[in-house]
Amino acid sequence: MIGRRSHEPELQAAEYVSGEMRRRERRRFDAHLVGCEDCWREVSFGWKGRGLAEASREVAPPGLRDEIRAALSIAARPSRAPRRLAVGAVAVALVVLLTLGAVAILGHRQPGAIDAAITAARTETLASRGPSTHAPPDLSEEGLVLVMGERVDLAGLPSDAFMYRDAAGESVFLFVSGSRFPTARDSTARPDGMGWQARSDGMTLVCGDRPVNYLVISENPSLVGPVEHMVKTSGVFVA
Ligand SMILES: [Zn+2]
Repeated sequence: MIGRRSHEPELQAAEYVSGEMRRRERRRFDAHLVGCEDCWREVSFGWKGRGLAEASREVAPPGLRDEIRAALSIAARPSRAPRRLAVGAVAVALVVLLTLGAVAILGHRQPGAIDAAITAARTETLASRGPSTHAPPDLSEEGLVLVMGERVDLAGLPSDAFMYRDAAGESVFLFVSGSRFPTARDSTARPDGMGWQARSDGMTLVCGDRPVNYLVISENPSLVGPVEHMVKTSGVFVA
């Protein structure tokens, strides 16, 4: 077959996104990405999965970011840089533009905090900033066992995060914050005029602001209701 040497987009993209790729190979792969749809798709998914798509400054992995900065500062210098360096800078800049474009298309572009919460719920992963400020609410009567209760940062929005699991192993996340959660894209206002609900990436979200700012997320819609009901009625979150 002409034009494409055999390679493994999934494996190489994983190494690239995780930063395991060595500098030299990374440089080659940067160039390869511009022309290879398969690798590009894998890398985009990788970034999206890691939640790096939230802020454009984070779209490029650290190594590449440094290289861009270096390349651009070289290119910006008045004309003493050899021509191939300038071409290199253009190639790198092109990769970045493609990255931003693909993220804009692939990502459903939720507000950062919503995107971060969805990612946490989908991957069942929380980056803890310490213990939660509220004591974890007891949902054992609903058949939900507490798995984690942590203080987290949702793209700049400080929040408590509680993860519960039911007997079938399905999880539901409750986020509680002193600040209002941004409204998810394509959300619907609740019939009672309190908060909104949305579906995003296969997850169900409900959000409200009484008696506290809360956001409940689960892949299983039937787990969302009991948690929201507890928030509203148990008195746990009344100041
Ligand atoms: Zn490829």
